[in-house]
Amino acid sequence: MKNYSPFIPFNKLPELKRKNSNIYNLKTFDTNQKYSNLCSSFIKKIYSSKDVLMTNSCTSALEICSYLLNTKKGDEIIFSNYTYVTTANSFVSKGATPVFADIRSDTLNIDEKKIIRLINKKTKAIVINHYGSISSEIGVIQKICKKRKIVLIEDIAESIFSKFKNKYLGSFGDLSTISFHQTKVITCGVGGALLINNKKYLKKARYILDKGTNRCDFDKKSVNKYRWVSYGSSFGLSEIQAKILFYQLKKFKKIIQTRVSAFNFYLKNLSILKKNKIIQLPKVTKFNRINGAIFYLILKSEFERDRLISYLEKFNIFCKTHYEPLNESPFYKKNFSKQIDTNISNRLSRRILRLPIYYKISKISQKRVCKKIKVFFNENK
Ligand SMILES: *Cc1c(COP(=O)(O)O)cnc(C)c1O
Repeated sequence: MKNYSPFIPFNKLPELKRKNSNIYNLKTFDTNQKYSNLCSSFIKKIYSSKDVLMTNSCTSALEICSYLLNTKKGDEIIFSNYTYVTTANSFVSKGATPVFADIRSDTLNIDEKKIIRLINKKTKAIVINHYGSISSEIGVIQKICKKRKIVLIEDIAESIFSKFKNKYLGSFGDLSTISFHQTKVITCGVGGALLINNKKYLKKARYILDKGTNRCDFDKKSVNKYRWVSYGSSFGLSEIQAKILFYQLKKFKKIIQTRVSAFNFYLKNLSILKKNKIIQLPKVTKFNRINGAIFYLILKSEFERDRLISYLEKFNIFCKTHYEPLNESPFYKKNFSKQIDTNISNRLSRRILRLPIYYKISKISQKRVCKKIKVFFNENK
């Protein structure tokens, strides 16, 4: 039988105006970093960072952090057990031992109470993410890091332009990383940025970004040729992508506004299921200003979750699970078999489901998603 239900994808890219996406009229894009500089200034102004480096991914920005910390064998770095692979891999690839902390069941963020006992003399940094743009207990974590002289890095891949207590997420860490991957709120296909809030990293970071050369000094005309001066790699964003990104950044308020309104719509329409203790929904406190990156449900079991996914697919509604907890990954199990307490992340990751959310998702589509979810639970009482 033919399926006539309208198609509701999980994600959709924000549209680009033709005149803004014309990359063929870039003139001297190889040497002139016009659009990268425009993006960098735009972000820098919002975050009041000391510097913003445009990178070709969030992963590259994390790798620059790993270079800046001089990560080596024997170093330990603390991460949430529920984050993307490269949050950890960027440091592990340089020899660090990952130490995973379990998450809180209400926000799916690193449990700040479990961090202290993981710290020892070898602890070099704590790298946190803010799941779906709802903040970690960043104030508490920042204090722990200051007291113990540990570097704090925020991976704000999912939480661009979100706030905690009126302060931007990404402005608490010594360093913070952003993603402009096509699965994120603001995008240029693939891309990223590194926010530098601690001035001791300023110069070194530019060298690492630029393949280990002092090209930034050459561009400022403070040297007459650029040379190999440091470790580094090809981490910069191309001008082609920077141009696309710049026009996305300029309309970030509108993009975020429509996503947050979609988020709130789901929250309101599905609250009856939460009230009846059928599902768990995201918890947004009055201290959070979110960006609508993710809307998720937590179901009673993995079995129920997987059945709901197939049920919705029959109506052309496409939902997704999310991260595999890092301690359950083949790579971690093979190389670091240390037993750690990660009960909550291991349990919840099997029951999470992300609903379709994107710029300009229609209320009609959202109503259909909510209705089908409710019918599913009614039929399965
Ligand atoms: C998406 C994501 C990344 C990876 O971003 P890329 O730009 O694809 O490298 C890293 N960390 C987190 C938390 C993410 O959600």
